Amino acid sequence: MAKGYTAWCAPAPSGQAQVLYLQDVQYRCTLCGFEEGLRYFATQPLHTRTLSAIERTWDNVWDTPPGECSQCGTPLSSGALRRLCLTFFLPHGRGALRAEGVEGNPFWSLAPYELPDAQVLPTWERAPAATPLATPLSGEAIRSLLGRPWNPKETWRSESLALREGALDLSEGLWAVHAARALAPEEVIDRLGLSVPWQRQLVVAPLVEEGCPRDGLYGAPSRWMQGITPPPFVYGVASPARVLRALEEELVRLGLPLRALPLPDGSLALLWGEDGDPAASPSISPREVAAEAASTLLHPGDALRVELDRLLLCAAFRHEAEASS
Ligand SMILES: [Zn+2]
Repeated sequence: MAKGYTAWCAPAPSGQAQVLYLQDVQYRCTLCGFEEGLRYFATQPLHTRTLSAIERTWDNVWDTPPGECSQCGTPLSSGALRRLCLTFFLPHGRGALRAEGVEGNPFWSLAPYELPDAQVLPTWERAPAATPLATPLSGEAIRSLLGRPWNPKETWRSESLALREGALDLSEGLWAVHAARALAPEEVIDRLGLSVPWQRQLVVAPLVEEGCPRDGLYGAPSRWMQGITPPPFVYGVASPARVLRALEEELVRLGLPLRALPLPDGSLALLWGEDGDPAASPSISPREVAAEAASTLLHPGDALRVELDRLLLCAAFRHEAEASS
């Protein structure tokens, strides 16, 4: 069974969460006529990766010259670009959103079951399993194909104005609760109307208080609520159980000899192999990851994958530093 690639995406030097996407470029050198296909592994900020931002990516890449000719070394102009294919994946779960085309006119499609795979090159033909998409890209159409929103912040923006009080089911394990007054966490959870035994484990984070979106870095509400007058109080709610399930799925998918060992404080140590030492291993807390998802309206699975990448990269760097010292 295909498991996809195991490329880990590092945060930007500023700490901003990033996500990988593929740029497949075909160019013809305007000086010597040499033709070549190139693949770039590019990154973009995760929190602001809305569908409209993705559409803009096509224009930006098309207008950016693809380096130098491999044969004669001439700097390539944007006129050398013949064909371009951009492929965007979610951090967690299946689904490839693809734009490909010539002469600056992309054809957009979504392959809902595709996993990232660095071996697969563009065929420049529409994949049979892909569904064509109209532009501008519709969050609703993509959500119905994927079974989850591309970016829950975008879903909140499109649905928030219609709801002054009540709960929005944004994604599996992620909600927003709107209220006219301040609510205690238990009241926020009650307003979801779930009546399930695990509901008290849900994590609640205030997003708007007395009409003021919470400020902060990158995924903070003040950044993605711009241009919107939110209800007086908005809370994000996320499920640690959904985070835990995402962790189990990612450990299977990564195909590494990693196992998660529960610790007394509710977090999990990520042990390498059978002899890993819990005290020397990175640990991950589903509650803390759920708190990050709730406070930034990130899909709990995406929040988990971003944190897992950060931990594994830190562990790899530490291992390298220890080996070279
Ligand atoms: Zn050339």
